[in-house]
Amino acid sequence: MKTIGVIGGMSWESSAEYYRLLNSQMKARLGGHHNARSLMATVDFAQIEALQRAGDWEALGVLMAQAAQQLERGGADIVLLATNTMHRVYAAIEAAISIPFLHIADPTGAALRAANVTRVGLLGTRYTMEQDFYVGRLREVHGIDAIVPNEPDRADVHRIIYDELCHGNVDAQSRRVYQRVIDDLAAQGAQGVILGCTEITLLIGQNDSRLPVFDTTALHAQAAVDWALQG
Ligand code: GLU
Repeated sequence: MKTIGVIGGMSWESSAEYYRLLNSQMKARLGGHHNARSLMATVDFAQIEALQRAGDWEALGVLMAQAAQQLERGGADIVLLATNTMHRVYAAIEAAISIPFLHIADPTGAALRAANVTRVGLLGTRYTMEQDFYVGRLREVHGIDAIVPNEPDRADVHRIIYDELCHGNVDAQSRRVYQRVIDDLAAQGAQGVILGCTEITLLIGQNDSRLPVFDTTALHAQAAVDWALQG
C-alpha cells in the first residue's frame, strides 16, 4: 500500500472528513484492521482565507507548494489537495514535487462521465464557481458543461461555506437554501450537481437533493485509495 499525502486545513472540518473517508474506504477494500497509510500537512486557514480575499494567488501557490514538498519529504507517494478552491494554484504544486498530484476535478469528471452526465450544476466557493480553473478543466479534460447558480445564489452558497460549514455549523435553514439552488439548477437542465467544495458534504447528502450528487470529497478520497492500492 502506498502512502497518501494530504494538504489539509482548508478547512480542518473537511480534512477530518477526508481522514475518516480514506481510512474507512481502505478498510472497506482490505477488511480487518486495515486503514490507509497517510500523512497530512495542515496549513492555517486564517492565513489562506485572507490571501484568497486579497486575490493573492501567487502567495497561495507558494504556500501550497511548500506543503506539498513537506509531504514528499515525509515519504508520501502521492499528494491530494483537500479543497476544490485551492486547485486554482495546482500548477504551482505540480511543478514543486516529483510525486503525482491527484487533481480533485478528475475523479469527479470520471464519475460524471460514467453516469452519462454532460450538463452539471456546480456548487462551491465564489472562486470555484466564477473563475475558469475548475469549470474549464471539466470542459477541456472531461467534455462536461458545468453551470453555476445566479449571482444572489452564488453569494449565499459562498457565505454558508465560509461563515458556517468551515466553522462546523450545519444549519437546517441553510440546507433548504442549497436545496432550492439545486432545484433551480435542475430547472436549467442540470442532470446532476457537483458538491464542489469539500465542506458541502457536511450539509447535503443524496437524500437532500433531487439531482444525483457528485461529492468531490468522497470521490477524491476514493480515487486516492484506489491509487494507493494499485500503486
Ligand atoms: N474546502 C473548500 C473547497 O473545497 C473551501 C475552503 C477553501 O477556501 O479552501 O473549495
